Amino acid sequence: MSSDTKFDVVIIGGGPGGYVAAIRCAQLGLKTACIDDFTGKDQKPSLGGTCLNVGCIPSKALLESSHHYAQLNHGLENHGITVTGLKIDVAAMIKNKDDIVGRLTGGIGGLFKANKITSFHGRGKLLAGKQVEITSGKTKSTISADSIILATGSRPIDISSAPVDNKNIVDSTGALDFKETPKTLGVIGAGVIGLELGSVWSRLGSEVVLLEAQDEFLPAADIKIAAEAKRQFKKQGLDIKMAARVTKATSKGKKVIVNYEDASGSHTIELDKLIVSVGRRPNTDGLFAPEVPINLDERGFVEVDEIWQTNQPSVYAIGDLIRGPMLAHKASEEGVAVAEVIYGEEPEINYDTIPSVIYTSPEIAWVGQTEQHLKSTGKKIKIGSFPFSASGRAQAMGDTTGMVKIISSEETDQILGVHIIGPHASELLAEAVLAMEYSASTEDLALTIHSHPTLSEAIREAALAVDNKALHIPNK
Ligand code: FAD
Ligand code: NAD
Repeated sequence: MSSDTKFDVVIIGGGPGGYVAAIRCAQLGLKTACIDDFTGKDQKPSLGGTCLNVGCIPSKALLESSHHYAQLNHGLENHGITVTGLKIDVAAMIKNKDDIVGRLTGGIGGLFKANKITSFHGRGKLLAGKQVEITSGKTKSTISADSIILATGSRPIDISSAPVDNKNIVDSTGALDFKETPKTLGVIGAGVIGLELGSVWSRLGSEVVLLEAQDEFLPAADIKIAAEAKRQFKKQGLDIKMAARVTKATSKGKKVIVNYEDASGSHTIELDKLIVSVGRRPNTDGLFAPEVPINLDERGFVEVDEIWQTNQPSVYAIGDLIRGPMLAHKASEEGVAVAEVIYGEEPEINYDTIPSVIYTSPEIAWVGQTEQHLKSTGKKIKIGSFPFSASGRAQAMGDTTGMVKIISSEETDQILGVHIIGPHASELLAEAVLAMEYSASTEDLALTIHSHPTLSEAIREAALAVDNKALHIPNK
């Protein structure tokens, strides 16, 4: 093989797992190539994977735009601000989102150039002998590497009762590109995507119904936070139907007819659009040739050992393709770690401190264990919470929804979980993640001076509340 086709590392997939792995490999002096097949709306190759193109970033852009609209519409009366003649230009909002995506995905191209990473656009397939076939249109080529990282991510799960037709029935990608605000919108699955994208269109005026199969709302979140979230979403007008089973959804002209069953019987509703957001599954189709079988677990995720190596020597896998939370920062962390493994280092990832955020309003953010989980394991715990209604800054902002809840070990006071629902929860959580990373106690948090007036004081107060020492709420 010529030097143009022989690399130290080849990465298949250019999402937050793959592109970060590529950058770290290049920083370590490894000759690196990254193969990605994503084509942007402009029909050009677009790095960044699901996250930058059709996931984290575009959804946050729309959440931000719709939040501004909702604030101006009816969120600022307390401040003495009312707006008449308010309008939303959906096409301009979508263009702003597309421009943000374009800038960020282009930025990764720039980082690749600066780090001398060779970028291939096409589909990668693992062949025997550490070779990778690249298919781009009708052209096939082969490159090889000493180490290969699989980072092909995931795609939406589809359900036969509601086949996506990209007209009226869409997946999360389609829901980022509506031409106008649907008057009525259904969402199958009240998970993270359903709540975030349901919120976007609800804020702009859609009547939104969420059809959730389970009878427990946000089971991964702390029980008290999930209950508060459900209360707030219902107050905002999201119609959340639990234990609802969609039996059939079909497009009919410009409408979708949805049949579903719940505890109250069988129902038929007519909607303008329907989003199917019932989870995602790993992209393994056509990823490896039969002579290099890669072991998958019972749910189809690539199996890896403690250094992210698959059953094939020097073939690694990261991100949504393997077990664990399907989150961009988890994928990136694994990308860095695998690059360092390949370089000969012994990196570790603390999976117990991976933060989760739902970017709704109120935002929901947590790290560590929930109260219900810890109780189920018989662990003796202490709990402190502090409502934002008692925070001076939240009062000044006019956004007093929610609380901070901290759980620690009764024996050692080590923080075991921090759960926040309320304004800027996503940003506030970083302090808790750092504290847990350093195995801090609630006393450590309580002894830390927080600026006044800030929302972060609620974290300190919740830490104080664990031992009944909160200053701005009556203690138990
Ligand atoms: P991906 O980002 O999926 O990247 C994989 C890349 O590989 C893709 O470009 C894909 O086209 C390409 N590929 C696949 N097969 C091949 C092949 N054979 N050859 C070449 N290329 C291939 N996570 C968060 O942490 N925060 C959020 O706010 C957030 N919001 C989200 C919102 C939405 C609507 C969605 C859908 C997801 C969101 N996520 C969020 C999840 C996040 O996008 C994923 O966890 C993350 O992108 C996973 O990164 P990855 O690198 O493993 O895979
Ligand atoms: P999810 O697992 O969060 O939610 C899916 C929901 O659909 C669940 O509540 C599930 O019970 C329900 N469901 C499953 N089958 C159903 C059916 N047939 N009918 C009705 N309900 C059904 O998955 P998602 O919302 O699709 O998101 C996928 C992944 O993307 C998540 O794992 C998440 O980590 C990631 N993501 C993260 C963020 C973020 O970090 N803010 C945002 C969006 C997506």
